Amino acid sequence: MTARMGTARLGPAERSAALEQMGSAELDVVVIGGGIVGAGVALDAATRGLSVGLLEARDFASGTSSRSSKLIHGGLRYLEQLNFDLVREALQERALLLQRIAPHLVRPVPFLFPLTHLGWERPYVGAGLVMYDSLGFSFGFTRGVPGHRHLSRRRALRLAPALRRTAFSGAVQYWDAQVDDARYVMTVLRTAATYGAQVASRAQVVGFLREGERVTGVRVRDLEAGAELEVRARQVVNATGVWTDDIQELVGGRGQIHVRASKGVHLVVPRDRIHSLTGIILRTEKSVLFVIPWGRHWIIGTTDTRWDLDRAHPAASRADIDYVLEHVNAVLSVPLTRDDVEGVYAGLRPLLSGESEETSKLSREHVVAHPVPGLVMIAGGKYTTYRVMARDAVDAVAHGLDQRVPPSCTDRVPLAGAEGYQALWNSRHRMAQSSGLHVARIEHLLQRYGSMIDEVLVLIERDPSLARPLTGADDHLRAEIVYAVTHEGARHLNDVLTRRTHVSIETFHRGLAVAEEAAELMAGPLGWDGEQIKREVEYYTKRVEAERLSQEQDTDHEADAIRLGAPEIVPVATPDPV
Ligand SMILES: Cc1cc2nc3c(=O)[nH]c(=O)nc-3n(C[C@H](O)[C@H](O)[C@H](O)COP(=O)(O)OP(=O)(O)OC[C@H]3O[C@@H](n4cnc5c(N)ncnc54)[C@H](O)[C@@H]3O)c2cc1C
Repeated sequence: MTARMGTARLGPAERSAALEQMGSAELDVVVIGGGIVGAGVALDAATRGLSVGLLEARDFASGTSSRSSKLIHGGLRYLEQLNFDLVREALQERALLLQRIAPHLVRPVPFLFPLTHLGWERPYVGAGLVMYDSLGFSFGFTRGVPGHRHLSRRRALRLAPALRRTAFSGAVQYWDAQVDDARYVMTVLRTAATYGAQVASRAQVVGFLREGERVTGVRVRDLEAGAELEVRARQVVNATGVWTDDIQELVGGRGQIHVRASKGVHLVVPRDRIHSLTGIILRTEKSVLFVIPWGRHWIIGTTDTRWDLDRAHPAASRADIDYVLEHVNAVLSVPLTRDDVEGVYAGLRPLLSGESEETSKLSREHVVAHPVPGLVMIAGGKYTTYRVMARDAVDAVAHGLDQRVPPSCTDRVPLAGAEGYQALWNSRHRMAQSSGLHVARIEHLLQRYGSMIDEVLVLIERDPSLARPLTGADDHLRAEIVYAVTHEGARHLNDVLTRRTHVSIETFHRGLAVAEEAAELMAGPLGWDGEQIKREVEYYTKRVEAERLSQEQDTDHEADAIRLGAPEIVPVATPDPV
């Protein structure tokens, strides 16, 4: 199915219809959680011919899945831990996503590995990268990215003049891939909806329906309308990441899976602050630090510390920011300061607990469990392997359904916008001419919407004022804000400025300078009046202020207390125990 044949929209009318539909007939499977794992499960189940509903308490990808390092990678450090199977699986997924499933959203990215020890390090890192590159070949696919190469210090400095000469003795460059994590989740959900899945955000599961021991569905609070509904399903999948244990408690079950959270903080700085043509990977005491090219910016991270505080809004403290700056500055000739930091974001890794007290050593592999009849739990893993996780979860669903369900076919299902992408990319100059937009704009649009670009261009044709860039965030056209509401499930200002775009971390004003304009553009399709526009801007402003202040605090506890001072625009309900 291509965009031209009608990719499903996730607009306001579709949300209402999905909730109504979910409330009216028993589904084969209902998925709790609209992060990458839940989205993957919905797509896997829908493409096996099952009837599926997905419920997300907040915005799609508002949990961990918009707060990652945005890499589709095998993970060099798992290689060092001799976890070859995990690396091979992830690299095969990388090849599949790059070449077949989402070539419009997943892109190769180079990294320079500076060597600091003379003698043993080059052969050691080199051997690791020979293995990394060869594990990346998969059946029927090439690796999808160039192979690694060794560089002298002089050649490395030509690629990355920002590096301090004395900080390294030579380097190896290798390739991985990157993705806009939040947009990818939304695109998986649009694809799932195209294959018939019913999808709703701001719909929080607050309880379970039971018949004896068996789970027969969920109780849901529609956080926009305030209403409650029951969704009956033959199987329920819990894909709630760091909230897994809460759902487990809701069902009253002794947990088979325990997930705990480890916080990772990233900084965003303008591209001109680090003069380099390549990303950089640095070893740290615990793990690695990435300097990742990201449009006109760099993303630098991450930290890895235990987190037991608020999971919806993990806060970055001054200590987190200092940690990242200190480590990157160790290799830069012109150090970064806090004044260079445009954006900061924190995410929580859903780690399967119990193996070790050191969060960075906890397993990234996933598990699937069937704690009570009718309920499947899936947790752990990483973004890169979401498709494998989803497949395993739906295999468990199929087992519980007691009927013949076809095997997973998502390895052959391109995401919405993928089909025809390469041909459109090759025609970008012609598209620029016919649309009147600069070719750089067309490239930007193609890398966000793929072959669904027509739908954005139609908006512009109807209202040429939408061809103007946002004042204060000129990477984005005004049309993108409208499209985020009509097609991409955005319901509040925060959704648009944080996840459909990343203006909140890509500008020094953190989105405040465009908040009013964006809210006014959203008002039409969402039917907002002047009061609601004001309310949206106020809530967004409070959020940014609270985040800024929390980033001045020395400890997690202080940062968390301040971040929690900014309320949610729609209060998320406290779940009722069964
Ligand atoms: C700092 C950091 C960097 C990372 N970098 C990478 C990387 O570069 N590459 C990689 O492969 N992986 C990376 N990861 C790991 C990856 O991001 C996660 O494994 C993945 O995003 C987890 O997805 P998820 O769907 O399990 O969880 P989430 O995205 O958190 O989704 C769970 C969803 O469930 C919803 N929910 C919770 N309770 C309810 C309820 N009662 N009703 C309805 N919905 C509910 C939540 O709102 C949330 O949206 C990184 C993680 C972190 C923290």
